[in-house]
Amino acid sequence: MSIAENIQAIRERMDRAAREAGRDPKEILLVGASKMNDADACRAAIAAGIDALGENRVQEMTAKLAQHAYDGAPLHFIGHLQRNKVRQVVGTASLIHSVSSLALLEEIQRQAEKRGLVQDVLLEVNVGGEENKSGFSSQEIYAAAESAREFAHVRVLGLMTIPPVEREPHGNLPYFTKVSQLYVDISRNLYDNSFKYLSMGMSDDFEDAIAAGATMIRVGSAIFGHRQYY
Ligand SMILES: *Cc1c(COP(=O)(O)O)cnc(C)c1O
Repeated sequence: MSIAENIQAIRERMDRAAREAGRDPKEILLVGASKMNDADACRAAIAAGIDALGENRVQEMTAKLAQHAYDGAPLHFIGHLQRNKVRQVVGTASLIHSVSSLALLEEIQRQAEKRGLVQDVLLEVNVGGEENKSGFSSQEIYAAAESAREFAHVRVLGLMTIPPVEREPHGNLPYFTKVSQLYVDISRNLYDNSFKYLSMGMSDDFEDAIAAGATMIRVGSAIFGHRQYY
């Protein structure tokens, strides 16, 4: 299967999942998680109509930018972001999905202010409360979202989550439902219902994420094939 065929097949599954949930398929965006895939693979995904490409590593993103890998599609940053790399991502990625601490938010604010722009971001929820994973816990996220309103050069547009690795079919559905509830509550109570993006769901579970309310899914291997681990 080619990248274009894979994207076509995923779009059909997205449409079906949306309709089954009584949702409009057009409100759900497909972000290609293109880590470990080269510039040609990125271009193939863009030619096939992917809504955005998401990178995990600043160095890889910078190298592929130099090869014009993302021309024609929005570039997102979806990976763990270190504070000393924020400068390279602000103003380059149109959306940062993975804001996992207030310290990181402060640095994004600082760099965005310097550049005279407003950076769109999502706050990452560590919904499983896993110690080895970054993000705000379900208990912290509300207060974090409240604090984030003070940053004039950062615009919070929603939430993102990566649930625990789950082997049971539909095992992540409770996590998706939980983050979806947080998303609705925070948008309504703190952001005047302005949230747009609930980023959750990957190759193995995006249908359940859509059932729970995702408006953005991040799909890697189902588009690009299996990658080597790094
Ligand atoms: C790699 C990655 C994905 C996609 O994972 P697949 O299982 O390959 O679809 C989604 N989100 C993030 C943050 C990733 O790093």
